[in-house]
Amino acid sequence: MSPKAVDTVIWGAHIITMDAQRHVYADGAIAIRDRDIVAVGPTETVRRDHDARECIDGRRFVITPGYIDGHIHVTGDPLTRGHMPDNIEEKFSDKLTKWVLPRYFAHEPADERLSAKLAALEMLRSGTTCFLEAGTVRYLDEVFEGLAESGIRGRVGIWVEGRAFGNPADQPRRNDEAIESMERELQRFPARHGDALLAAWPILVGHSTNTDEVWQAAKALADQHGVGVSAHMSARQSDPDWFIEHTGQRPIVHLEALGVLGDNVCLTHVVRIDDTEFEALARTGSNVILCPLASLKGAFGISLHGRHPDMSEAGINLLLGSDGYNSDMLRLLHLTAGLFKDCRDDITRMTAEQALELITRNAARALQIQDLVGALEPGRRADLVCHDTWRPEWAPLTNPVNQLVWSADGRSVHSVWVDGRRVIDNYRSTLIDEDALYAEAQKAGDTVIKRSGLPMLSAWPIVGRRRH
Ligand SMILES: [Zn+2]
Repeated sequence: MSPKAVDTVIWGAHIITMDAQRHVYADGAIAIRDRDIVAVGPTETVRRDHDARECIDGRRFVITPGYIDGHIHVTGDPLTRGHMPDNIEEKFSDKLTKWVLPRYFAHEPADERLSAKLAALEMLRSGTTCFLEAGTVRYLDEVFEGLAESGIRGRVGIWVEGRAFGNPADQPRRNDEAIESMERELQRFPARHGDALLAAWPILVGHSTNTDEVWQAAKALADQHGVGVSAHMSARQSDPDWFIEHTGQRPIVHLEALGVLGDNVCLTHVVRIDDTEFEALARTGSNVILCPLASLKGAFGISLHGRHPDMSEAGINLLLGSDGYNSDMLRLLHLTAGLFKDCRDDITRMTAEQALELITRNAARALQIQDLVGALEPGRRADLVCHDTWRPEWAPLTNPVNQLVWSADGRSVHSVWVDGRRVIDNYRSTLIDEDALYAEAQKAGDTVIKRSGLPMLSAWPIVGRRRH
C-alpha cells in the first residue's frame, strides 16, 4: 500500500491522546490533513504509512489535545485587568454595580473587538484552543471579527438578562427583546452541527437576572439549533436566597421544574447547592463549570461548600473555567487537583488524570462538540498543543501527565494547531502582530478606565507616570 499524502506529520513526541483507552505514546506521531487528524500512533507506523508535505521533529514535545476553557469573559475584563482593588470591602452586589458594570459599559465596539482578540491570544499562547464565553459581550459582530483574527475556536453570544428589576410593567418588552436577540444571533452565527469554528450560543447572565420565559426560550432555541445554554448560578448564597424568596424553590430545583436543565446546559460556579439540587443536576445530565481561581479570589467558599469532586464522581459532567483572571488552564489544573485533596484531607481526590479530563473530553462534551475535539484520534479536528520539554520545569521527563498538571504551566506552550492551522509557532502567534496588539491594548485599557469614571486605587503609592 502506498503512503497516504498528508499535510503534516509531527513525529518522535510524547503524545497524551485522551482517546477512549487514554493511550500515551512515548515515541508517537500525528498526521494532519487539512483540518483533521488522520493518524495517531507509534512514530514508526505513522511515518511509514504517510507521505507528509512537512515533517516536524517532535522529540522535544509533549503533545496534548487543545484545552477548552468553559467560562471566560472575553470582553469587560481583559482590557481592565488588575484595576479593581484586591481587598475590596463592599458587598458582592456592590462590587458588581460599583466596579464591574461601569467598566463593561465603558467599552465601545472597537474596545470589545480588541479585548476579544487579546483574550484569544492569551488563551492560545497557553494552549487553550476553544472556549465558551461567559456573558459580557455587547457587540457580537466586532467580537467575532477580533476572535477570527486569532484563529481560535469558540462559542459566544450577547449577554442576555431580561428581568425588568423594579419595573414589572416593562417585563413583556424585556422578555421579547431578550428572546429576539438570541434568535437573531443563532441564525447569523450557526454552529453547523459543531463544525463552525466560531458560533453563537444563548449566553444568559444567569443568577436572578433571567425570567422563566427567557430561560425556557433559551433552552428551546439551544435544542432547536443543536447548541447549548450557559449561565452563572449560585456562586454565593445570594442566588438561593433570591430564588427561595421569589419562587419558593432553590435555583436548580426551580430550573428543573421549568424544564430548562439538560446535557446542553452549562451552569457556572454552582457552589451553594443542597442535596436536592445536586440530584437535579445528576438526573438531568447538566454540566457544571468550576472556576477555581475566580472562586478563590472572590472568596466564594469552594473549599468549604464546593461539592465539585463529588459531582464528578456522581457522573455530573464537570469542566473548568478561567473566568478571565488568568486563562492559563494548566494553572487551574494544579489548583483544582490540589484544592480538593487538601480541603477534604484526602490524597485520592481529583487526581492529575481526572483533572486533565475536565479541560479536554468533559469540556468538549459540554460544548456539544465531543466528536470533533477533546482528544487526539483520527477523525477529529487537529486542535493540539506542543509543550516544549527543553525547559527546567519539564526536565527530566518521567511521567508526562503528572508533570503537565503539577510542574508545567502555559509558559512551555511552544506551538498550537486549531482546526489544522498552526496558530502559534515557537511561542508566538502566526496571525497576530503581538507587539502592536499589546500597545493598542494599553491605550484602549487606559481609555476605558478613564471613561468608566472609576478611580485608580493602589494600596501602595505609585510614583510618577508610565513612559510611552
Ligand atoms: Zn463569569
